[in-house]
Amino acid sequence: MNGRIAIVGGGIIGLSVAWRLAQSGWQIEVFDKAQVGQEASWAAAGMLAPGGEVDADSPMAQLAIESRQLFRAFVDSLEAESGVSIDMQEAGAIELAYSDDELNKLQHKAMVQSGIGIRSRPLAPKQIETFWPRVRRDGLAGARFYPGDGVVSPREMVTAMKIAAKARGVELHEGRAVTAVHVGDAYSDVMTYDSDRRFQAVVIALGAWSSALLVSGVPALPEAYPVKGHLIGYRQPDQTCSTIIRHGHTYLLQRANGLLVVGASVEHAGFDRTVNPETAEVLAREAAQVFPHLAETTPSQVWIGFRPGSEQLRVGPWHSPRLQLAYGHYRNGILLAPVTADRITASINANLRKQ
Ligand SMILES: Cc1cc2nc3c(=O)[nH]c(=O)nc-3n(C[C@H](O)[C@H](O)[C@H](O)COP(=O)(O)OP(=O)(O)OC[C@H]3O[C@@H](n4cnc5c(N)ncnc54)[C@H](O)[C@@H]3O)c2cc1C
Repeated sequence: MNGRIAIVGGGIIGLSVAWRLAQSGWQIEVFDKAQVGQEASWAAAGMLAPGGEVDADSPMAQLAIESRQLFRAFVDSLEAESGVSIDMQEAGAIELAYSDDELNKLQHKAMVQSGIGIRSRPLAPKQIETFWPRVRRDGLAGARFYPGDGVVSPREMVTAMKIAAKARGVELHEGRAVTAVHVGDAYSDVMTYDSDRRFQAVVIALGAWSSALLVSGVPALPEAYPVKGHLIGYRQPDQTCSTIIRHGHTYLLQRANGLLVVGASVEHAGFDRTVNPETAEVLAREAAQVFPHLAETTPSQVWIGFRPGSEQLRVGPWHSPRLQLAYGHYRNGILLAPVTADRITASINANLRKQ
């Protein structure tokens, strides 16, 4: 087995864990049923946004805050090892309120967040008008600014990670679905349709597919399920949207290449890959509520992805150090990638010796 560890699933989570474990001296093999990084990790908007996403204290909230702090160094190191430049913006986020009720909710959220270390400050309509001139002014009651939120391009991260992982000797088995895993006392076996291989440990990072895997030797895995999301994109001049802008369930952000991304629907539709024009229209209407000039424009892209839902985030051993779980990241798997990679690497380093 020679210090070999299998990572089952090559999304941003599996690749991050693979890269970190390889840096720690482990021999890593990643198995993916298709090309790595083409599922949720390809679809994601890429917000690094505890300010926008966290509204109560929880283990997930604490990990989100920790991972946000790790993110810049993670991206710097990924760029250095891969030679790929990654679009990461740290300009913060604003959340808009168009009624007193919405403003009160923002204030309440800010109070809860300040107790767990997430900073924000109020913005008056006049400030929005000055610094975000395209935002709808009609009925604007106020806003909050979250200086710590940011954005990254998940697709560039996955591209970089693939190169960095390979440079560290990680073997990528693309187009190889894992059918089953058996966890023994001294090893774990990984089965594909034509092979049965032995490793010192296995990491399950299958996103929304995680609990569909047949696993023996340990109790059944906690459930994972898909939560489908549509996103739309517009080609827009640079600096159309220099921070994340949120209103209600809608968010807008802009990549360095000009693509303005608007998200996202939340659908419990299983693994249905249909791209629905009506859902895209709803998103376009919501976007035009924030940026009225978009009402004149048609989105140039619509796409979907499956967020990995689960009752709770699973990062760590499951009844044996030879089986590590890394799934259930739901809406925040891009943000949580650095902390997940560090936790799994620490758990394996603490519990297993390279044989
Ligand atoms: C619309 C949308 C917007 C989002 N926006 C954000 C955001 O702004 N910020 C943020 O932090 N997160 C966001 N997310 C969430 C984020 O995308 C996910 O949490 C994250 O990508 C999960 O990564 P993963 O590696 O666990 O899963 P995935 O990227 O889905 O990877 C799972 C991998 O497992 C492989 N696989 C499946 N079955 C098998 C098998 N049997 N054998 C081998 N391989 C298999 C798949 O091919 C896939 O490559 C968003 C998600 C969606 C859908």
